Amino acid sequence: MAPKLIDDNSTWPKSNYEIKEEDGIQFIVPMRGAKETRYNPLLDRLPKVRPDIEEENLQYGPHIALGRINPEKHDDILEFVNMWGLLGLSNTKKYTSTKSVLSILSKEENAFRLFEEGKLYRNNKRRNGEKDREPVIIFQAAVRTYQTLINDINRYKRDNPLLKLGGEEKRKEFRNAVIDREEKEKDHPEGQRDLIEAMTIHESQAFSTYLHLNEMLEEVHPQSFFDIVSNSDSPGWGYNSLIGAIYIKFFTDKHEGKKFRRCKMKKCNKQFITTRPSNEYCSDNCKGYYHSQKHNEKKWLKQSLLHYEDYNNEDIEAIFHTLIEEGYSGEVKIIKEIGKRLD
Ligand SMILES: [Zn+2]
Repeated sequence: MAPKLIDDNSTWPKSNYEIKEEDGIQFIVPMRGAKETRYNPLLDRLPKVRPDIEEENLQYGPHIALGRINPEKHDDILEFVNMWGLLGLSNTKKYTSTKSVLSILSKEENAFRLFEEGKLYRNNKRRNGEKDREPVIIFQAAVRTYQTLINDINRYKRDNPLLKLGGEEKRKEFRNAVIDREEKEKDHPEGQRDLIEAMTIHESQAFSTYLHLNEMLEEVHPQSFFDIVSNSDSPGWGYNSLIGAIYIKFFTDKHEGKKFRRCKMKKCNKQFITTRPSNEYCSDNCKGYYHSQKHNEKKWLKQSLLHYEDYNNEDIEAIFHTLIEEGYSGEVKIIKEIGKRLD
């Protein structure tokens, strides 16, 4: 593991929050009279051993928590902000640029009017210290964008060994596949393949995923901190938003050799971080569940094959695996459903 170059010594405020409708749209707002505290979002909280339960992962840092929450669920959003604070989107270039905000708020006329009036992230009618707010819809977009970034970076990584084996031809094929995907999935004007191709010319900075990562890293800068008590200074990171701190922490963790993965247990499938290359589960719970699930599946398959012994084994097995993929479980249910699909 590479040594740490820079200390992590900036802090970020957090309070207690609720989701409330104001000015016709939903906002994450501080609760009235809640007390603000400060903490260091860049501190290394990752324990040496895997946690017992999934939820513990949320405490390991805002960059891990933001990768795990479901942005569709208000409870998840509140769990995040009550642990780590607002994202500070009003201080970022990305989430205050007309282009981005318009593309997120395309159907929310109310919200766009607030944006134009400079009230999207601030409610001046509230008292000092409680004015900051974040629209749920923009918070959700920021979470999705961050989660997509981690996924995409891992996707490129997984393809890498194939590329090395395949040589020049394979590289071209890979590049074209990514360009196709970018055209389809990302926020690029339709039919502008030339533009997307132009962005991938420098293969070291390939694809809009890395353009986005670098765009967010601009929110962070090195900073010198002076400590009066010890009369000494130390280097650290300066930032004006939690989301900026989250991107720099993702970036430094990644380059210090930590792995960002998705839990192998399908029902969880949440992002987690680990220092052990062999770790495939976000918690002991998920590992246990995965193995008991595999054990059950073996049993169910055996029973299914016995039940339909007059049929071709391979056909039964194929249907069985489709059903498991679709989320079926339980011997009786599976045998019954196989019967239906054989008709
Ligand atoms: Zn898990």
